[in-house]
Amino acid sequence: MDSDYQPLLDVLAEVSDLNAASAVLNWDELTYMPKGGARARGEQEATLSRLAHQAFTSDQVGELLANLEAKGVGSGSEPADLVVHETRIQYDRMRLVPSEWVGRHSAAASRAYQSWAKAREAKDFSLFAPDLEIQLALAKERGSYVPSAADPYQGLLYFHEPDFSVDELDRLFSDLAAFLSPLLAEISSHADRVDRSWINVEWPEAEQWKAFRAATEAIGFDYHHGRLDPTIHPFETSFDRDDVRITTRIIPRDLFSGFFGSLHEAGHGLYERGLPEAFRRTPMAEASSSGMHESQSRLWENLVGRSMPFWQFFFPRLQALFPSQLQGRSATDVYRAVNWSGPSFNRTEADEVSYNLHVILRFRLERRLFAGELAVKDLPQAWRQEMKTLFGIVPEDDLAGVLQDVHWSFGGFAAFPSYTLGNVIAAQLMAAARDDLPELDRSFATGDFSPLLKWLGTHVHQHGARYTTKQLVEVATGQPLVIGAYRAYIEGKYRSLYDLD
Ligand code: ZN
Repeated sequence: MDSDYQPLLDVLAEVSDLNAASAVLNWDELTYMPKGGARARGEQEATLSRLAHQAFTSDQVGELLANLEAKGVGSGSEPADLVVHETRIQYDRMRLVPSEWVGRHSAAASRAYQSWAKAREAKDFSLFAPDLEIQLALAKERGSYVPSAADPYQGLLYFHEPDFSVDELDRLFSDLAAFLSPLLAEISSHADRVDRSWINVEWPEAEQWKAFRAATEAIGFDYHHGRLDPTIHPFETSFDRDDVRITTRIIPRDLFSGFFGSLHEAGHGLYERGLPEAFRRTPMAEASSSGMHESQSRLWENLVGRSMPFWQFFFPRLQALFPSQLQGRSATDVYRAVNWSGPSFNRTEADEVSYNLHVILRFRLERRLFAGELAVKDLPQAWRQEMKTLFGIVPEDDLAGVLQDVHWSFGGFAAFPSYTLGNVIAAQLMAAARDDLPELDRSFATGDFSPLLKWLGTHVHQHGARYTTKQLVEVATGQPLVIGAYRAYIEGKYRSLYDLD
């Protein structure tokens, strides 16, 4: 082994451990920590993050990388090449932004979060506007540190989806909106064709939990290396491929919010669990991108969990847990109810047809904000206008509108496109898996999801960070990323569900 390689691995392992320790603290904060522990926990997490950041972006790492690269390491396909190549990318990206910016940003973001929460309580955007101005300025500054980017929004996108240009996303989103908007309108004019009113009943909490656990276990989430715990906002985190945590919520009159939340997070978890063992504690043992991560959660939540074969398998199990709620009901009734579609104000609870329109709305507003064509104070009005254009409905207050997402309070602009990329990629992966495994639906109907999980492991998970998003889509499906499979999936499913021509 090269004499500069082991010292590099040592630093990377330390950084990985610090980040994992920080993730444990954060998981605890969001699940079991008493409220009063918040101050100390904030300090502890900040300390660990700072130590990890300092170690990773140190001059020592820069020297080790330069020495290795001078000897040709980083350009081949040996394990050391892959680690050096990926570390170089992350190292350069993290060194772009001065640490002084990071300090200013984190202080401003915690103030902005407070005012966002207050504005939500008062349903009054103006309470949040001054802090949002500051977040916008900081985000523009961050974007301007990317030398290759044509403008700050493009620069900011580089931190989320380095593989995509703003123009490319713009075209992709226009193509999506061009068929999603009319389809949603058509569905709404036949809203009575799918009944979900009957699911609005009391679902006892203990049985809900058993259902979440059974469904996640069935798709392959490994409870020897993972946990499911209750939270307010579902999330997934992992401390290593050997220890993957997912959470979901329990809402007494809404079984399926927590149910699909748990499948979604389990999908993220299966990706983490499948990351390459040989690259543990290096940047290679990470997901390809946020969009790719989201493709895994959406695939299990929607393309599997909201499919008819899944309910052929799972309905009897659900009925055993909820005999009175499901008396006289069938797998088809559940399948139809959980695929109800219609215009809605809320992104996170949106169905598969309307979801991407929520993302497109945010993308369009962000671009206008960054271009200086839209002032922060005019955002609520612009939001209502876009809602009218894309959905034909207008929220009655800012809580149901511009104040619904937490992202902007920490300057998370350019982060929403990953959700839509995830949906599109998921459909393309599923189409490729179906080509390779024609018996897929039959195995779902019997509760065997292992052929799909194995396929994803081979074609996506085991590659870790080796490929960029676009490369990985091509490696896994043999085709560049296009919306064809997504469109065919959505049109096919919803035209049949709503009996449209
Ligand atoms: Zn997700």
